Amino acid sequence: MVVRRLMMVVLAAMTLAAAPAVHAQTTGAVSSAGRAVPASADGARTALPAVVAAAHLSVDGPRTRLTFDLTRPVEMRAFALADPYRVIIDLDEVHFHIAPPSGDRRGLVKTFRFGLFAPGKSRIVIELTGPATIERALTIEGQDGRPPRLHLDLVRTDADGFRRALTDRAVSNIARRGDRETLGPRLSPRVEEEGGPPVIVIDPGHGGIDPGAIAPSTGDEEKMLVLDFAKVLRDKLATGGRYRVVMTRDRDIFVPLGERVRIARDARAQLFISIHADSIGGANENARGVTVYTLSDRASDADSERLAERENKADAIAGLDLSEEPSEVADILIDLTRRETRIYSANFARTLAGEMRQVTRMHRLPLRSAGFQVLRAHDIPSVLVELGFVTSRRDVEMLTSAIWRDRTADSVAKAVDQFFAARNGPPVAPAARR
Ligand SMILES: [Zn+2]
Repeated sequence: MVVRRLMMVVLAAMTLAAAPAVHAQTTGAVSSAGRAVPASADGARTALPAVVAAAHLSVDGPRTRLTFDLTRPVEMRAFALADPYRVIIDLDEVHFHIAPPSGDRRGLVKTFRFGLFAPGKSRIVIELTGPATIERALTIEGQDGRPPRLHLDLVRTDADGFRRALTDRAVSNIARRGDRETLGPRLSPRVEEEGGPPVIVIDPGHGGIDPGAIAPSTGDEEKMLVLDFAKVLRDKLATGGRYRVVMTRDRDIFVPLGERVRIARDARAQLFISIHADSIGGANENARGVTVYTLSDRASDADSERLAERENKADAIAGLDLSEEPSEVADILIDLTRRETRIYSANFARTLAGEMRQVTRMHRLPLRSAGFQVLRAHDIPSVLVELGFVTSRRDVEMLTSAIWRDRTADSVAKAVDQFFAARNGPPVAPAARR
């Protein structure tokens, strides 16, 4: 519920008139702050990505300026989003050689985060302390010994002013919402497919601009911990051609939740395994160990519900301005498939927890359920594994250990083998059962 509301309001976005891709014109548009420059005239597409080397924040009355030093100018575009108030800067792929902000809010900027958003595209998401309009957003060439810079000037406004500024963008978004995903005609779970090895989709959570949970003790980020694990698991499953393995991401890049499900459906996946790492969300401050989640409309407990809310916020964290959430389909056949898929998912979850507990620590309640967006394919058995808690120093030691990864990925691969042996294996003759 919370998530849906959040996605709806995120739609209210707009490209501000004051923020064109200023430097894009090779005619050399001139701004008060410096000469706007052609960004890709030098064949930047083939060059190494520009580097963001420093960030500066200054406040002058109602005006807040955020500046990023660059190694060369890049294409950029800025727009604002509501609820919470944010400004998004999309730019050519850049490498960020800056530390995340320390968290002290100044002027209109509460905090900001950054990372790879899509192939060839980076994003900066700036959380605002209140409604603001973008007065100026551009990159300028270096001058007087100063490096090329990206300037963002924000001016305080009120909620009405902000809403007015959003209108155009909101209208164009409503038009785009027409091409959302529709559920295909496929009506049975993907466990009994025709020839070829079964397809397994591994889904390392978060990525790029969305770091996921961050270990307070070491600063390790969930997105990297789960990617490392997913790669080991991929290699194990792909060995010997038993399975075809598809990763929703195999590098540090953001992938929207709906896209992860779409990748699985397009690959005709027969099993979907999402990999995450938790942080303490409930009262149990000593929480440790693996939890295996399946989809449920009603969460098995309050902690699971809070966790699903956190995980489902990934798109909002990355500043997505378009809901990709497929609409609920009230079709009785799809409903039957969904019910059957949930039984397969629950079976796999049990097998998985059974194998993993042989080699690693499990959570006190290792089998739980909640409304995770990425588990919503109605015809693909899907589980979400929280490998441990980044808030536990000992769990982080495990998560960062190559030996632990190897052993634990082995146990997951065993569970996968059992799942497919039970589904696709030859029928067991009564005599053979003894
Ligand atoms: Zn996560």
